[in-house]
Amino acid sequence: MHQWITHSPGETIKFSTHLADYLQPGDVLTLSGDLGAGKTVFAKGLARGLGVREMVNSPTFTIVKEYRSGRMPLYHMDVYRISDEEDIGLEDYFDQGGVTVIEWAENIPSWLPDDLLSFIINRKSESERVITCRASGRRSKHIYEEIVNDERARN
Ligand code: ADP
Ligand code: MG
Repeated sequence: MHQWITHSPGETIKFSTHLADYLQPGDVLTLSGDLGAGKTVFAKGLARGLGVREMVNSPTFTIVKEYRSGRMPLYHMDVYRISDEEDIGLEDYFDQGGVTVIEWAENIPSWLPDDLLSFIINRKSESERVITCRASGRRSKHIYEEIVNDERARN
């Protein structure tokens, strides 16, 4: 488990932009934290780091949005309104050659892969966030080591 502190949305975006450097097709990331914690802000940074040119918005109503203008596809999901009992076919995305990032992934534990890089974002104050990361699985542990050792990701 490792923690980073950010002091503005820009710092959170900077962090996840650098994280994107280490991602490969098939990687799955989860984002947890209360409404307004910064999950979508984090996803915007990932998109930027992957070179996505489209505007990235919260996929709360569509559940999934695909962005294909970057160096690999980004599948951005928000399962706030989904429960673990529903099969909405999300797992079909995991092996489609892109990176998947899932907001509110704690709602659908049964549908998540074993190899997972999990981020929890906690709001400390209006502009301060604590980002906690855990890795499970060989691939995620590798990404974890890379981002923990990346000085650019420290604020
Ligand atoms: P979520 O997707 O978790 O519901 P959003 O990313 O949509 O949250 O919104 C986060 C809000 O918090 C934005 O209005 C953003 O400007 C604000 N914010 C303030 N400080 C930070 C920070 N350090 N990191 C991320 N967002 C922040
Ligand atoms: Mg969101």
